Amino acid sequence: MDFTQARARLIAHLGSEISDRRVLAAMARIPRELFVPLEERPSAYGDMPLPIGLDQTISQPLIIAVMTEALELKGKEKVLEVGTGSGYQAAILAELAQLVITVERLPSLAETARKTLNNLGYKNIEIHLAGEALGYQDKAPYDAIMVTAAAPRIPDDLLSQLTVGGRMVIPVGSRYIQELYKITRRRKGDLVQNLGGCRFVPLIGKNAWENE
Ligand code: SAH
Repeated sequence: MDFTQARARLIAHLGSEISDRRVLAAMARIPRELFVPLEERPSAYGDMPLPIGLDQTISQPLIIAVMTEALELKGKEKVLEVGTGSGYQAAILAELAQLVITVERLPSLAETARKTLNNLGYKNIEIHLAGEALGYQDKAPYDAIMVTAAAPRIPDDLLSQLTVGGRMVIPVGSRYIQELYKITRRRKGDLVQNLGGCRFVPLIGKNAWENE
């Protein structure tokens, strides 16, 4: 299978929906096949989510691109990702920002992601195990926050980890179906935009969903 060609085709397809060329260029540099289990590699460049074990998924490339574009990264930012999963999204963020802090609640996924990202040579990604509270307060505030699991509501405890002027993208809704929100933190009254429907695995924890 020619992954290089498949990747180029996927990026061309995303180009009809995504206008930020830096996001497309970042995705064109990253071998998505290395972030999925061996048996899923032939599907790595389909525009669909794929299983990564433990009932979790690597998101669909289009939704990844939409979420990344919404963060409006220019290169100097400190970014928080909640839900490391495979580490693929963290790699994209690391191409576009200065420092990526990413948290994951399942240790084995965090470990696999760490190996993949180390092998690819990323030096600006820190992976942490999720604690009791959402996000990662120790390194806050962040210029941008990406939440890659679905919350029942916009969590105040994540908003408070965002700088004024910072952007957060987060799927909000039921356990099974959600709307993607972009929140821009402002001194008076945050700006909330709906970017459309989506489907993510649940965000588990205090002020989110219970583990079932
Ligand atoms: N961004 C990932 C896909 C994430 S899937 C990628 O690029 O592959 C969602 C992930 O969020 C899962 O791995 C799940 O274990 C994790 N998760 C769920 N609740 C969490 C929480 N409270 N803190 C951190 N990670 C969480």
